[in-house]
Amino acid sequence: MSTYLRFLNGRAPQKEDLVFHIQGQAVPVKVARKRIAKHYILKVTHLGWIQLTLPNRGNLREGLAFLEKHRVWIAQQWLQWLKRSHEHQDRQGRLEVLYRGHMEPITLSTEDKNTIAHFARLSFPVDLSRMSLGDWMNSWLRYQAGKDLPARLAKWALKYDFKYHRLSIRNQRTRWGSCSSQKNISLNWRLIQLPDKHADYVMLHELNHLRHMNHSKRFWDSLRSICPWMDSSERWITQHGHFLTDGCGPV
Ligand SMILES: [Zn+2]
Repeated sequence: MSTYLRFLNGRAPQKEDLVFHIQGQAVPVKVARKRIAKHYILKVTHLGWIQLTLPNRGNLREGLAFLEKHRVWIAQQWLQWLKRSHEHQDRQGRLEVLYRGHMEPITLSTEDKNTIAHFARLSFPVDLSRMSLGDWMNSWLRYQAGKDLPARLAKWALKYDFKYHRLSIRNQRTRWGSCSSQKNISLNWRLIQLPDKHADYVMLHELNHLRHMNHSKRFWDSLRSICPWMDSSERWITQHGHFLTDGCGPV
């Protein structure tokens, strides 16, 4: 086996376990077998993986030998991909992320072979050989939501004397939040992207369901007394987040 390839955990070789080291970065190698392929084929995909295609009669051992034979070439290809992806992002200046109601531009820099993403006065390392920048941003936002939202919900609950059992931060496709009859609240991590006052509205809305498990007039009157800006938030959410609604459990 080449010194440039290794199998993780010492297990028998599996497709998804292959990595190829280029200037200290572990670049994943995906192995595919194509019936119609006549030769071994190597390429760097647009997401920065190395794809090794085996022909119908080929095998992994020969495929790895092929990769080893072309290791200088594939390393050049990958470094070009890395450079292109940085240049594209810098030149276009279009990379931005919605964070707490502001579209924040993202910039990338390289320090000690690590790629660092910067936005909204925050910095964190991203390994673009493993995931796209968009996926890194989503996972970072979700992590940030897990740190930020529980404290904000607790603050509102304390202020208006609401008692809930459990809070979970979820990746819901259709809901901003929900409140169950067991007094468990769940919030969508994407609330971290809303302007603070609209995220607060969703939290107060769910807390208010602890007292009114429906959308009755009493529910809305009570909500208005603790969230006087609720109409503007409802409007904003209808305009900008129509794909996500509130789910308040059984009514
Ligand atoms: Zn509701």
